This record gives sequence, structure tokens and C-alpha cells, in this order.
Amino acid sequence: MFDYIVVGAGSAGCVLASRLTESGRRSLLLLEAGPRDTDFWIHVPLGYGKLFARTDVNWAYESEPEPALNDRRIFTPRGKVLGGSSSINGLVYIRGQREDFDGWAVPGWGFDDLLPYFRKSEDQSRGADPWHGVGGPLAVSDLPRHELCDAFIASAMALGIPRNDDFNGATQEGTGYYQATASRGRRCSTAVGYLRPAEKRPNLKIEVDALATRIHFRDRRAVGIEFRKNGEIHTVRAGEIILCGGAFNSPQLLQLSGVGPRALLERHGIPVVHDSPGVGADLQDHFYVRTFWRCRKPITLNDDMMSLRRMALVGLRYFLFRQGPLTVSAGHAAAFVRTRPDLKRPDAQLYFINFSSAKRGGVLHRHSGFTCAVSQLQVESRGSVHLRSADPAAAPAIRYNYLATENDRRVMIEGLKLVRRIVNTAPLRDYVRAEYLPGPGVQGDSEWLDYCRGMGETVFHPTSTCRIGAVVDEKLKVKGLRGLRVIDASVMPAVPSGNINAAVIAIAEKGADLVKEDA
Ligand SMILES: Cc1cc2nc3c(=O)[nH]c(=O)nc-3n(C[C@H](O)[C@H](O)[C@H](O)COP(=O)(O)OP(=O)(O)OC[C@H]3O[C@@H](n4cnc5c(N)ncnc54)[C@H](O)[C@@H]3O)c2cc1C
Repeated sequence: MFDYIVVGAGSAGCVLASRLTESGRRSLLLLEAGPRDTDFWIHVPLGYGKLFARTDVNWAYESEPEPALNDRRIFTPRGKVLGGSSSINGLVYIRGQREDFDGWAVPGWGFDDLLPYFRKSEDQSRGADPWHGVGGPLAVSDLPRHELCDAFIASAMALGIPRNDDFNGATQEGTGYYQATASRGRRCSTAVGYLRPAEKRPNLKIEVDALATRIHFRDRRAVGIEFRKNGEIHTVRAGEIILCGGAFNSPQLLQLSGVGPRALLERHGIPVVHDSPGVGADLQDHFYVRTFWRCRKPITLNDDMMSLRRMALVGLRYFLFRQGPLTVSAGHAAAFVRTRPDLKRPDAQLYFINFSSAKRGGVLHRHSGFTCAVSQLQVESRGSVHLRSADPAAAPAIRYNYLATENDRRVMIEGLKLVRRIVNTAPLRDYVRAEYLPGPGVQGDSEWLDYCRGMGETVFHPTSTCRIGAVVDEKLKVKGLRGLRVIDASVMPAVPSGNINAAVIAIAEKGADLVKEDA
């Protein structure tokens, strides 16, 4: 019997496990389906690529065929390890825009309500200011500078995009370098930042390789969790159960336990505890399309990986000094831009990456090359996550429903055209040998849209499948039931503008305070 059971030791779950046990007065069981985060590549930022499709630390889902993407299934990595997706993610530290949180229009969840939690979580290497905090568990630091990134930023500025050295400060708009959730060249997942200092506490018990399979209810109160470990079924009881399984697994566990749309549950022969149509509905994600460029100068990571000598030097530099390309992950430089001048805030994020590969996480191209990608920020399309089977070990059916609205299509087309303009502007233009993909065959809007349909993928920011208002209330309690909360990416009413790990962590920090208030 515990005071709390937290299901899922991901970005949010590790925050909850740490904050709810820090007083020493409450006991907590943290259940994680994956293993401990001992794998070497988890802690090396560029190791992200190595973990992309590994099924021992990654759920490695495939979506259902996407109607707007030529019926392609979209490969969908998710962390399955202590730290969850924060152990395998791209380390990019972005919070989103004030208007995102204010636009949720939920009392207590506006930007000014969340800013103290962004600051509380943060250990900003540049020091504290009104936007940033120091001394928090999440290390945030600068990336190394690179000639090609400097050229990208200068070209964007030549087109009138303002310089911005802090996308998480007064405004997100502009071009500059990303910051990363890393410290001295090592990844700072929530397992590293939050859990490691907490895990020796006698009131915290961590079970890894433990898949939660069902929530037990008595009189509409959640009273326990059934989990499977080493082939055996265990049942544990708690005063309160907190689901932190992420935007795919939290709705899945609710549905497996009889909380979800009635027709879906009945189709799978699951007794209905609470008919809640919003569970698994309203999935949002950022859609992402890459363009590839051949580079004139052998200064890309592709070049490093083509030469044994250079590869050895990269490794040596990292092991001796924790410096160099291995300290950079999924994004290096960026631009947050408005695709139409009449807009009040950026609606597209451009990623600049100093390498290129046909498949993400796959081998790099055998030529000097870089990548410039686009992602829409304020997505309108919504999809769903629903059980495919009543077997808790089976993957759920993920339907992103990308590009479902005219504006979603238009922003991607305009963003990609802007990428081409930036790359063809000096000084970056002088580094370009050729446009590798899409190439000169793509010119008109319909050709760009076809390119999106053929190339587009997820950039891994699923949210909103147990959103505040529909499934949980403002205190993140599951509506219509007692003793049960969801605290993770799935409660966001809409996906924020940019990478979402920082926002998940801020939500978990606030969620921990809400749980403590009730206790
Ligand atoms: C490849 C990749 C790259 C990304 N890059 C970035 C980036 O650069 N910047 C950024 O800000 N964001 C990035 N993200 C997104 C960000 O990391 C996630 O949105 C965030 O980590 C989600 O946090 P969460 O707590 O909701 O879920 P997760 O961190 O995914 O945690 C869920 C945890 O619950 C566990 N779990 C699930 N079901 C069960 C069960 N039934 N029983 C027990 N345990 C269970 C899982 O194994 C997992 O550990 C990326 C994500 C991925 C996958």
C-alpha cells in the first residue's frame, strides 16, 4: 500500500516521483515498463540517432496508414526506459509561445501561471533572469557554434528574420542557436535531473520492466494498479494513482481499464467503468518535412562519418573534453517565422541540422550534406489513439490525421518555400553545391504539397489525448472518477508552438503542487 502510484517514469513521471517524495512523508511507487537508463548512448546527445528504432528502450510504434500521406504508416519512437522520451529525445529546449498557454483558456494554466514552473525546473547555464531559473534539476545549456549554422542564421537575417539569442525569452520569433537539455556534453533527461538525486529515498520505490496493465476501481474510485513483471501479475494499492504514460499510453491504459468511449470499450469486451468519449480523442502532433542539401565544403557531420580518422577524432574529442559533434542532437540552429506578414506570431519552426540522412536514425548520406526542415507550430488537425486490442502489451492504433486542414497544408508549403529562399541567400548560398531533395522538379504549391505527402513524418510531439476539459479537470483529476489523475503531455488542450519536453516538465511541476495541495 502506497500513498501514490505513478505509472510511467518519463518526462513527467520522474518529476512527480521526485517532488512527491521530497518531504519524506509520503510513499510512492514508480512503475516503468522499460529498463534502467544504463545504455551508453542515452547519455551522449548525438546517441539520439542510435536509439531511434531500438526496441529495448523504445516502444517503436507505427501509426495507422495516414490518409493525407499516401497511406504511409509513420514510424513513431517513444522512450521506454527510465526518463521515458526525455532519455531518447533530441534535447532541443523550447517552451512554446505565451499565446499557446493563454489560448488554452484554462484558469491556472496560462503562461504567467506556468512561467514559475519553467523557471523552477531549470538550471540555465547562462544564469538567472526574469525568464530563466538556476539551480533546478533540468540542465539547459548552449550548443557549440558551427560555420554552417552561422551561415544559416546570417542568410535568414538577410531576408529580414530578426536575430534571436533566446527563443525562450521575451519572444520566440527570429533565428539563432537552440539550447539543449544537457550539461557538459551529457544529456539531462528527467531520470538524470530529477530521479537520480531522489532514488535513494526510503519512501520511493522504483519498479522497472513493470508494465501496468489495468487500474482497479471500487465505487468509481481508483484503488490500485495491476502490473506485469517477469511474466507474473502483481497488484498494488494506493491512495491516489497518477498516470504519466505519455500521450499514447495514458489513454491506452484508461481504455484498457474501462475508461473511454463506450462503443470502443464494448467492441473489445471491456466492462465500462466510465464512458468518457474524450479519452484518446483530439491527438495533436507537429508534422515535419525535411529538405536536403549537398554542401561544397567538407565540414558537415556526413564528412566526419566518411573518414575513419575524422570519426576517431570526433570520438576522442568527446571522451577527452566532452566537446564536438557528439554534443549536438536533433537541432542546431533554428528560425521561428511567420509564413504570412499579417500574422501576429510565428507559425512555423525551421530546423537547421549539420548532417543529412535518408532515414532518421539511419546512416548519413555519403556526401557532404545538411538538412533544413519545417514544422508547423499551431496545428489544427487532430487525430486519435484507440485500442487495437484488449491485450495490454499490444500497441494502440495511432491516427495522426496530418494535413487535414487547409491552413495546415498552406503553412507547410510556405515554410518549405522559405527554406529554399534562405538556403539560396548569401552567405549560406555559397556553401551549397546542389539542392539534393526535393530538387528543381518541385516548384508549384501542388508539387510542394505532394512532397509533404511523400516525405512528411512526425517530429514526436503528441499531445491532447486526455485533454484538460474533456477528460481531466483543471487539477488534472479524471472527471467522473476519484483517486485518479493524468499528468503528462496528454493533458495539454493543444500542442504548444515548438518542442514540448519543457512544457511537459513544467506541467508535471505544477501537477505535483496540485497533488500536494490536496494531500
Ligand atoms: C525521438 C524523440 C525526439 C524528441 N525530441 C524532442 C526535443 O528535441 N525537444 C523536446 O522538447 N521534445 C522532444 N521530444 C518530445 C518529448 O521528449 C516528449 O514530448 C516528452 O518526453 C513526453 O513526456 P511524457 O512524460 O508525456 O511521456 P514519456 O516521456 O514518453 O514517458 C512515458 C513513460 O511511461 C512509460 N509507460 C508507458 N506506458 C506504461 C505502462 N503501461 N506501464 C508502465 N510504464 C509505462 C513509458 O515507458 C515511458 O517511460 C522528442 C520525443 C521523441 C520520442
